[in-house]
Amino acid sequence: MTNYLFQEQNWQTQLSQLVTDPYQLLELLQLSPSSLNSTALLAAQQFKLRVPRAFVEKMQIANPLDPLLLQVLPHHLEMQEHPDFVSDPLGEEAANQLPGVLHKYRSRFLLTLTGACAVHCRYCFRRHFPYQENLPKQDDWPDIRDYLLAHPEINEVILSGGDPLTLSDRKLGLWIDRLDSLKQIKVLRIHSRVPVVIPNRIDEHFCALLKNRGLKIILVIHSNHAAELDDYTCQQLQRLTAQGIWIFNQAVLLKGINDNANILAELSQRLMAANVIPYYLHVLDKVKGAQHFDTDPQHVENIYSELLSLLPGYLVPKLVREIAGEPNKTPLYGASP
Ligand SMILES: *Cc1c(COP(=O)(O)O)cnc(C)c1O
Ligand code: SF4
Repeated sequence: MTNYLFQEQNWQTQLSQLVTDPYQLLELLQLSPSSLNSTALLAAQQFKLRVPRAFVEKMQIANPLDPLLLQVLPHHLEMQEHPDFVSDPLGEEAANQLPGVLHKYRSRFLLTLTGACAVHCRYCFRRHFPYQENLPKQDDWPDIRDYLLAHPEINEVILSGGDPLTLSDRKLGLWIDRLDSLKQIKVLRIHSRVPVVIPNRIDEHFCALLKNRGLKIILVIHSNHAAELDDYTCQQLQRLTAQGIWIFNQAVLLKGINDNANILAELSQRLMAANVIPYYLHVLDKVKGAQHFDTDPQHVENIYSELLSLLPGYLVPKLVREIAGEPNKTPLYGASP
């Protein structure tokens, strides 16, 4: 689509007008409804379709294999059972110390303030996570603060989700103020896919909210394909880097979407154009319903070694896997003897 109608609409409006009907999505893209069989619709019942119009605008018309579309369109293969693909592949329920809190890595503390996302990515490892029972309440702050104070090794708090940028600036601001009040916390990291799917989330008010903080602020976006990063999105991201915020990207290696060294190289080049540093390339977490996105380990290694040969070192993301119980993300190719 060359004609952007929704991209610059205010972000709250965009969030309230998500596409949630798979047939409507296909119609917007001038695609035949026949690709949705009853099994795919069942998958959409279990994990709803959810996609902002501004993201749909980045998809190609009449291309059933569009790499952005394939990330969000419910697929009948999601309903296939596979013994290796489970509901909680990362053991997050076990790592859960307080409502909304995950403390798995020594110095970093992950806080989930909302279970909601602006987009539902079909491969998401949190698609079965019991969010609703697991969010901090407004008055849980004293417990969270006490936990942080009791763990002086924590110097970084990561707002994750769900997607923290679906929250209002008022609520975000409240939590940022709280964290900013603790001397031990030096870094605030925000993990969000919203800047990619609703780039207008980065508006003046949000930029002002992050300005002049004692905390170092890092935004980690999530983009898997260069087509997600049009000029407007890049400009919006640059508003933040212009005020000294670091922005990194994490991507997931997805079969049929970006399992190709040239596509990944192009993604890194686009990220550079937006002042964003490629951080992680995750191999897929083995979550139930996502097995059709999985790539064979040998293929992963081949892609990654080719990627190393195509790019300067600073544009190569670290290839990692998350292994339950490990003290950090596990580097994959070339890391072990
Ligand atoms: C991925 C993750 C982090 C962040 O890891 P980094 O390697 O610092 O990016 C922190 N906590 C949890 C629970 C995570 O899953
Ligand atoms: S935005 Fe992130 S947390 Fe939300 S569905 Fe997509 S991958 Fe999962």
